[in-house]
Amino acid sequence: MASITLKNLVKQYGDGYPAVNNVSIDIADGEFIILVGPSGCGKSTLLRMIVGLEDITSGDLLINGERVNEKAPRDRNLAMVFQNYALYPHLTVFENIAFPLRLGKGKHTEDEIKRLVTDAARTLELTDHLERKPGNLSGGQRQRVAMGRAIVRHADAFLFDEPLSNLDAKLRGQMRSEISQMQRRLGVTSVYVTHDQTEAMTLGDRVAVLKKGVLQQIASPRELYEQP
Ligand code: ADP
Ligand code: ADP
Repeated sequence: MASITLKNLVKQYGDGYPAVNNVSIDIADGEFIILVGPSGCGKSTLLRMIVGLEDITSGDLLINGERVNEKAPRDRNLAMVFQNYALYPHLTVFENIAFPLRLGKGKHTEDEIKRLVTDAARTLELTDHLERKPGNLSGGQRQRVAMGRAIVRHADAFLFDEPLSNLDAKLRGQMRSEISQMQRRLGVTSVYVTHDQTEAMTLGDRVAVLKKGVLQQIASPRELYEQP
């Protein structure tokens, strides 16, 4: 697990106002933080800077106190959690979860892979579904398979980029509670991007509100709710 510190982060693409403008946030170990704001406010850019998919124009990014501005994504040990579109339809749940282990540099033995996948499946209550294909799973189960991939790698933090935005309202509601329960059970540091107010107010420990790249406020959902 990890703390993540954003110190005066700036992302300047062209000549206009910066996409991310001097944003500072201290994310505690195990905290679930939501980045919310209208389209174009810089949420995805900020998330991509944390993962390492976007260069940082200025400012510092620290993971567990260590500056990682120049570190490659694979050396940051953070996991992007995608929707089911990132699952391989022709592979079983077991093989989908095992996938990052088979790719890894420090190749795992088959026994290790089996143990890691079995452990993750137990945590995620997927034990009975390991031989199924993603097409036969419910939305919540697919979401858990995606999280399983992050868990087997022992990622320090999960990063979610609008994971529910393409779902209908009913499914979105189910997945919201699945994600919330899972994050609390695992206690893993999570950063979750959304433009959806309901997700922002129900999922996180704290909500960071962005507007035109600037951090407007950061507070617990309750504090935000009670504001006049
Ligand atoms: P959000 O995720 O909140 O919708 P983004 O982070 O995608 O916002 O975008 C923030 C701003 O940066 C927008 O004005 C967008 O047009 C701009 N932007 C994003 N990516 C690029 C890029 N690769 N090149 C130039 N401008 C970009
Ligand atoms: P339930 O969990 O109520 O059985 P399902 O999860 O089977 O519902 O899905 C309901 C609808 O949403 C189906 O059309 C399914 O294809 C679609 N769906 C399910 N999960 C996802 C997902 N993760 N991403 C996009 N669409 C999904």
